[in-house]
Amino acid sequence: MDLNRLIKKASSKPWIMMALVGAFFLIPSLIASRQNPSTIAYSDFKTAVLAGEVESVSVSRTFIHGQMTSRARKGAKSGAFETLRVDDDDLFRDLKKQGVKVTGLPESTFLAEAFAWILPILIVFAILRFASQRMGQRQSGFMTIGRSKARIYMEKEIEVSFNDVAGVEEVKEELVEVIEFLQAPEKFTRIGGHIPKGVLLIGPPGTGKTLLAKAVAGEAGVPFFSISGSEFVELFVGVGASRVRDLFVQAKSKAPCIIFIDELDALGKARGIGPAVHEEREQTLNQLLVEMDGFDSRDGVILIGATNRPEILDPALLRAGRFDRHVVVGRPYKAGRLEILKVHARGVTLGPDADLEVIAAMTVGFVGADLANIINEAALLTVRREKEMVGLPELQEAVERIVGGLEKKNRVLNPMEKDRVAHHEIGHALMAMSIPSFDTIQKISIIPRGIAALGYTLQLPTEDRFLMTRSELENKIAVFLGGRVAEELIYRETSTGARDDLLKATDIARSMVKAYGMSDKLGQISFERDRRPMDLEAPGSSSSGEYGAETAREIDSEVRRILEEQHTRVTETLRVKTDLLRQGARLLLEKETLTGMELQALATDGVLPSRAHSAI
Ligand code: ADP
Ligand code: ZN
Repeated sequence: MDLNRLIKKASSKPWIMMALVGAFFLIPSLIASRQNPSTIAYSDFKTAVLAGEVESVSVSRTFIHGQMTSRARKGAKSGAFETLRVDDDDLFRDLKKQGVKVTGLPESTFLAEAFAWILPILIVFAILRFASQRMGQRQSGFMTIGRSKARIYMEKEIEVSFNDVAGVEEVKEELVEVIEFLQAPEKFTRIGGHIPKGVLLIGPPGTGKTLLAKAVAGEAGVPFFSISGSEFVELFVGVGASRVRDLFVQAKSKAPCIIFIDELDALGKARGIGPAVHEEREQTLNQLLVEMDGFDSRDGVILIGATNRPEILDPALLRAGRFDRHVVVGRPYKAGRLEILKVHARGVTLGPDADLEVIAAMTVGFVGADLANIINEAALLTVRREKEMVGLPELQEAVERIVGGLEKKNRVLNPMEKDRVAHHEIGHALMAMSIPSFDTIQKISIIPRGIAALGYTLQLPTEDRFLMTRSELENKIAVFLGGRVAEELIYRETSTGARDDLLKATDIARSMVKAYGMSDKLGQISFERDRRPMDLEAPGSSSSGEYGAETAREIDSEVRRILEEQHTRVTETLRVKTDLLRQGARLLLEKETLTGMELQALATDGVLPSRAHSAI
């Protein structure tokens, strides 16, 4: 137990401090005052003894405590006395002769005195222990290691199973292999199969990443270690690194097990990015890399990381042998939302009118945590209304309340915004489909996609990405502009929704001019050396400035020219397709998501193939 910390903790609570002070000062005097002896001279004591007025004494090396007989007390309250012991050879003989009871041996008085001091100390310890137990209770079920903020939690027995996580079937499929491995590591290693060391779960907050990681541990029946990246940020230099070391030591001793690192981005931000280099974070990150390299998945330890900002992660973390398996945990579609609602409705009694499908349909953009919240809120409303079962009105009201909260946080779209997003997304899609060589579109959706699966894979810097021809780069710009142009055509006005697209388009155009020598005006010259992958750089920053203001102006005008050329091209392409644009947007609004095949069918003959009812 860390005494200093407990005392510090105690001092923040006045009542504990008062109790401590009280214990120190009151108890010795309480013991003493029980008898409240009067001090007498030794000669008086001796006289009393000889007069037979002393009933009992206890003798220590320096003091004699005693009790007068009731006869001798003469109205004095207690009859207890004390006197300083002097050298007196006759003392014990006289006491014996007078029949005085000698109770205390010298040692026992000493003990009593010592006790008077020990007792308060014991009490102090008892209080501290009590306080520490209460603190401990708040984290019951966890084992807290270390005393700084970045805590390692260990849970031995996880109750969560895959049954508790819904609407993420594809993700579960990805994780089944990990479970099988944890259940029987030796089986895998004998065959020599490749087991990932680290799985990175990527998705917006509340989509169930933590829940999934726990469910993997629960399904495999292994311990679950967890730590949160954001807790490292405030640590002193060196502490984070040692905490990471601790974590791996602990985990290895309990293998097979899972280590879950939440908010990996907080600790794994690309090194050297951002205004100030954060030394502590770098050390911690380096330690994490070292630890990841230093173990073998054959040890039976699997790392699961979670982030909603994969693009800022240090590329070193994503390399082979580290977090090399990436699984996107997106916002659920309607069918998924229904399943999640069902999971959380298990514990409540639903009325016959409580149609969860209705609720699933009205909660576009909601994540699992929001849906869990709806059931909760509806149950509370039901209790407040003194109803027996949760009905549709309660569920709907719960949705409205939560939408209100989310709209403030800009997380769900109102109907007008949805309409705009639908046209915007169809704009991208139609533009892409008009370019025969362009990558086929897998899926589009009006669900706000902070990080779309597509957007994410596009952003991972790969070698062949840089082997693109000029027209391919122009096509990419055109597709990025497709969304914005669609908005212009339909609404005659642009919105802030295209900001990200514009950034990316500008980035490509700038690279064409500055890095790849693709501008006729500026010629075959690269103004950049040692350039980081585009997406890791702060947009628009002119990092290496080996050119003058004149050249900078020329670069800007060339970038602008490229963008304008593409803008004109996209406008011409999409203008003749406005009917299709509107039609597609209507469909998208209705279905929330359209597959590439559906889009293709729409584009070729304007109709949609039939498909199973929202079976995504
Ligand atoms: P994340 O780690 O992605 O931020 P969490 O796993 O912490 O999200 O989710 C918070 C809570 O929301 C969970 O404890 C659970 O109650 C609920 N939840 C989120 N996603 C799901 C899901 N797919 N299925 C069931 N419940 C979910
Ligand atoms: Zn867009």
